Amino acid sequence: MTSSASESSDNPTAAGWIAVVGLGPGRPEWLVPEAATYLEEATDFVGYHTYLAMVPAALRHDQVVHGSDNREELDRARFALQLASEGRRVAVISSGDPGVFAMASALFEAQTDEQVRPHWAALDIIVVPGITAALATAARVGAPLGHDWCTISLSDNLKPWSIIEKRLGHALAADFVLALYNPVSRRRPTQLAVAFEIIRAHRDRSTPIVLGRDVGRPDEHIEIVELGDVDLGRCDMRTVILVGSSTTRIDDLGGHRRVFTPRSYPLT
Ligand code: SAH
Repeated sequence: MTSSASESSDNPTAAGWIAVVGLGPGRPEWLVPEAATYLEEATDFVGYHTYLAMVPAALRHDQVVHGSDNREELDRARFALQLASEGRRVAVISSGDPGVFAMASALFEAQTDEQVRPHWAALDIIVVPGITAALATAARVGAPLGHDWCTISLSDNLKPWSIIEKRLGHALAADFVLALYNPVSRRRPTQLAVAFEIIRAHRDRSTPIVLGRDVGRPDEHIEIVELGDVDLGRCDMRTVILVGSSTTRIDDLGGHRRVFTPRSYPLT
């Protein structure tokens, strides 16, 4: 695997390359330096319009932007592979981390579909990590993910709702802290309430809940509430929800309301 964009592009034998780049949640300070290098070196940007608008650097006249709708992941992946196979240096853009409910998997899926384009299989896909929404939100409030946790997308666009309910139930029964992505959308207005019925069946009313909306962006809004007081109307697709485990605590410390999950777990 190539270790840097400049090595890759300086290599005269290299044809195009493809890097799937995580922008982090939104703040330029939360973009890893390696991501900035690939953004600088790319000739083409491929991604969802909203994420392309978050690319921090000004575009050069020789950089081409190919925006598309968020629901066209596999088409977008095939398009990016085709561009790279034609010798272009392609940055595929995701928010947060590109491996978390994002484009990295879609690229590998499209690449393995050799029936479609056998020559794509030779392309080296570089995955550039980013700070995922759960980690950014956790850092804002303290250390809620300091013990075992798991992440579940509540979107049933790509998996059946029955699987989501099953995973929620098992994760709650195992006393993980949960990070819930894609909590609610206009197409799925009611499922978040169903998810919270399952959560209430497993957790006390005093369980800490963190609603992180637009974290790291200008409109950032973070709420810390107890499960008994949570207002689901405040959640949308720009929100990530953290649900505490049985040991997660809320305390007023250093002038802030803090949420943390202790490092040790009660021995039975
Ligand atoms: N790859 C992204 C996740 C994409 S799925 C990442 O690693 O963060 C989209 C979901 O991520 C949203 O519905 C929301 O739940 C969450 N999300 C992404 N960015 C966010 C942000 N800045 N603030 C709050 N939630 C965010």
